Amino acid sequence: MSPRKAKPKRKVKRDITHDDERELSTSNESIEEHDDGIFVVRKISGSTSNKPYRCPGCDQVIPMATPHTVAWLEHDQSGRRHWHNICWSKRNLRKPKVERTRSAPRY
Ligand SMILES: [Zn+2]
Repeated sequence: MSPRKAKPKRKVKRDITHDDERELSTSNESIEEHDDGIFVVRKISGSTSNKPYRCPGCDQVIPMATPHTVAWLEHDQSGRRHWHNICWSKRNLRKPKVERTRSAPRY
């Protein structure tokens, strides 16, 4: 429908050597490890979101142009989900990956 949805190709880079880290931060993408896998997490500033999404965390719609979080399993980009920022972080709280006080082995 709208041809503008294709990936913008405006990355013209001259010195690649230096640019690795910078590119990571400009794309706002990070890797998070969760119980159910490795997630790629992308922060959407809002200006780039041009349609409403339903957040799987609270089952509410994320209005257009709202900053939010997109996350997907590393190997499954087609399974991308759009989350409210707060819902994504709540999800992380629900499933702590490092603290295991509750399930700590007691001998
Ligand atoms: Zn939500």
